[in-house]
Amino acid sequence: MKERGRLFVLSGFSGSGKGTIVKTLLRDHDNYILSVSMTTRAPRDEDREGVTYFFVTKEQFEERIAAGAMMEYARYGDNYYGTPQSFVEEKLAEGYDVILEIEAQGAMQIRKKAPDAVMVFLVTPTAAELERRLVGRGSETQESLTKRLRQAWTELDYIPQYDYMVVNDDLEACAALIHRLVHTRPDECRPDAAVIAAFREQLREILPRYGVTVDGAEG
Ligand code: 5GP
Repeated sequence: MKERGRLFVLSGFSGSGKGTIVKTLLRDHDNYILSVSMTTRAPRDEDREGVTYFFVTKEQFEERIAAGAMMEYARYGDNYYGTPQSFVEEKLAEGYDVILEIEAQGAMQIRKKAPDAVMVFLVTPTAAELERRLVGRGSETQESLTKRLRQAWTELDYIPQYDYMVVNDDLEACAALIHRLVHTRPDECRPDAAVIAAFREQLREILPRYGVTVDGAEG
């Protein structure tokens, strides 16, 4: 029988390049498989049912929670997002390394349920770079930009609970590094309190420009 696969949680700021890292890992290695999440948010143009997400109603989602069918879930914005348990279990048993691309609240639930999961938090080199990438997308409404920056501020607090913090400055190098972290779990790339603090200070200056007020970030 094949050896059980690894559970790999990838979180990171919106704009950190999580999606591209996942695509690169899936392209370069055949051991990975991406867990398709369930969500109550409305599909966007680029979404495909069963590929990017399973789209369900709030009632359907709550039924799944009640049935204990979600491995983790979170409310993010006005919507639910969660990981269906059965797919993950099945694929781990088949020997795949299963990627969960999820936000931090859900990641913390995985931390408890599956202590051997490898958890990586992806950041941009600087907060200014995060701002540049989000603004540069051009597709963000002011409201969504504001939400993503506020979310980044909140997520900073969770980074110390991840196994690894990785800076996405060069896509290929970053994907290769993450692959190595997942497979050899070296004692490096640990969340660095000084780097997190510096990021927080930079964000504190950027946020008010977008009208975002958070504790300690006003003015
Ligand atoms: P989006 O609406 O942009 O597709 O996703 C918003 C956020 O939800 C992203 O940070 C994404 O990683 C997170 N997310 C997607 N699927 C899940 C999930 O199954 N569980 C949790 N906790 N977060 C998810």
